[in-house]
Amino acid sequence: MTNPDLDPSHRPIAGAETIAEPRRRVPLHTKILIGLILGGLVGLAANYFGTTEVGGPQDADQNGIHDQLDWVASNVADPIGRVFLRLVLMVVVPLVFSALALGVLELGDLRRLGRVGVRTLLYTLVLSGMAVAIGLTLVNVIRPGESLPQEKRERLLAQYSTGAENALQSAKKSKSLKDVLLGIIPENPLQEAAGALDGSSKDNGMLSVMFFAVIFGVAIAMTPARTGVLVQFLEGVFDVSMTIIGFAMRIAPLAVACLVFAITARQGMDILVTLFWFVLTVLLGIGLQMTVVYGLVLYFLGGRNPVRFYNDISEAALTAFGTSSSNATLPTSLRVAAENLRLPREISQFVLTVGATGNQNGTALFEGVVVLFLAQVFGVELSIGQQLTVVLMSILAGVGTAGVPGGSIPLIVILLVSIGVPGEGIGVILGVDRLLDMCRTMLNVTGDLVLAAAVAHGEEGRVAAEPA
Ligand code: ASP
Repeated sequence: MTNPDLDPSHRPIAGAETIAEPRRRVPLHTKILIGLILGGLVGLAANYFGTTEVGGPQDADQNGIHDQLDWVASNVADPIGRVFLRLVLMVVVPLVFSALALGVLELGDLRRLGRVGVRTLLYTLVLSGMAVAIGLTLVNVIRPGESLPQEKRERLLAQYSTGAENALQSAKKSKSLKDVLLGIIPENPLQEAAGALDGSSKDNGMLSVMFFAVIFGVAIAMTPARTGVLVQFLEGVFDVSMTIIGFAMRIAPLAVACLVFAITARQGMDILVTLFWFVLTVLLGIGLQMTVVYGLVLYFLGGRNPVRFYNDISEAALTAFGTSSSNATLPTSLRVAAENLRLPREISQFVLTVGATGNQNGTALFEGVVVLFLAQVFGVELSIGQQLTVVLMSILAGVGTAGVPGGSIPLIVILLVSIGVPGEGIGVILGVDRLLDMCRTMLNVTGDLVLAAAVAHGEEGRVAAEPA
């Protein structure tokens, strides 16, 4: 369970408890799972009894779904689900901006640590980039979203695309690679922020806003005098945004039940089979990053035997698995690094503290996979330029995601909407999110320890870095 008091990072995450919901008798994730199961069962039953063969009675539409069932799905279930989405979307711009600027600010301490800091930043980008690349390759090879029959995918898009029509249109306008890359630097960040959700931005929408946040954070770090109030303001914006996400999470069980009902009532069993393939894809990606990428990094850059390393860090990995929170696992990671891995304290303290929020390889992998998967489910074709946008946004989202249970959910919603995939799609994956959250958090924390080992190995024999 997340306990923000345990979090010794420089920036305590005040909203953490609102997502983690530690005080409730039935944990939030259990309620969401119950929502998924109930919504799914009622939806399947409704699909079974409420559909007829195409060409059947008059009150069925061309897909064989009875009018009454369609009415309930469209006018009761969908709107309730949308309340949840709108609450999340409402704060996404301030949340992403403050989280990223503050995240970069923490990384800005890099300069103080010189070479250690630069190495940490480089390895973070490489590890996250590899994780996203693995995830996206797997979705492109396994194509979990395409296990849903073509006509059902088209129907889904038709049902959910109204709100995202503009975004979809803009997503279809394929830009050249040069324009995608240039558009990352916004001419007018406010215009990008205002158009991030409906596709009316000029450049790359949310990705451009993210870039602005990164530059803003770097600039604050380089202007230490007179920026204290600004940092406090950003921390306030971040905390309040997390509290509002907490409001949304309170209605998540009902919203998930409604969103899943609406989808299964229209799609039947097929959507659950699709979900199974999605879970398998994510787990395979996490497994590959854990064994192959980390194994190679540990061996070549960390000078360590991977098997022994995993043995030594098992306590931290299991704590991450149990808590689904990198921040709550930080004290355990610090102890494991000092006692079992015998890493120099000043290096592990810096790398692990920054890494708990900034180096989230599992989260970056997951966010990339979800977006491409849902794009497949909804039949939205993404050009290479758009896939590149997903890669960059996922890496940055890995930096901007809070290390708390479900921290990636708001970022996934924004990623979806900004590339033209209906945000309602999140309902499909929320029910299985807790299981995947446990696994990706385990990867996040393992990645932090791998990073610390690699950075420390590079420093061996040199003068110890300044204490953090
Ligand atoms: N639960 C993750 C962590 O704390 C963040 C997320 O991906 O939701 O590392």
